[in-house]
Amino acid sequence: MRNRIKGLAPDPLRCPRCRLHTDLCACDVLRPMAVATELVVVAHRYEVRKPTSTGRLAVLCLQGARLCRRGLHGAQDDPVTWGPGRTPLLLFPCPGAIPLDAWRAAQPTSPPPVALIVPDGTWRQAKRVRRRVPGLAAITAVTVPGAHADGVRLRQPTAPNRLATLEAIARAFGILEGPAAEAHLMHAFRTVVERALWSNGRLSSAEITTSIPKGARQDGPLSRGPASLRDEPPPTLATP
Ligand SMILES: [Zn+2]
Repeated sequence: MRNRIKGLAPDPLRCPRCRLHTDLCACDVLRPMAVATELVVVAHRYEVRKPTSTGRLAVLCLQGARLCRRGLHGAQDDPVTWGPGRTPLLLFPCPGAIPLDAWRAAQPTSPPPVALIVPDGTWRQAKRVRRRVPGLAAITAVTVPGAHADGVRLRQPTAPNRLATLEAIARAFGILEGPAAEAHLMHAFRTVVERALWSNGRLSSAEITTSIPKGARQDGPLSRGPASLRDEPPPTLATP
């Protein structure tokens, strides 16, 4: 395999924006879409630098979205704030979290715009976000339905109905914004995941449902995935 992922060092063979190998760059599908909902992804600094960080990809796909980093050595965490007049919602299955579609159904016809705050990282990192980030303990926590249709993923979930962060964000935007936003995010998710898995031989050309750029090289099957693909599974943002 060319260019095995090594720790957190920058890799000149990868696109700095989408983190795929340069001949598989998916930036053409990671276009920022105009939406009313403000997305704020709160991620540990280790998560932000991983090629498998799908929360970071969601930020690239939505206008006005922001990434706030935590756990910075020798520096303050990025402040987690949202626009004035917005209703903040935390997308995480904390005790007392409610289904987002039920929350939406209980709102008036034209509710104020939402700021969706989404912890990203390993389960342990994401679980700490509500407790440790000022202002998040008091806001409403919501969940989205968990079952997914295609099963294509960068990391192994710990349960079959668990979603990657970008999938969960797509579901939430489907409820808050409509099917076009959900389709945009899911297309970005599938494209990046399929190209990453195809590149390291875990997906065949016949299994690709999106596209592979012309001239891109496939390295062939691996006996095992690179280090960052064997990390602790990502958190579940879905309803169990
Ligand atoms: Zn790219």
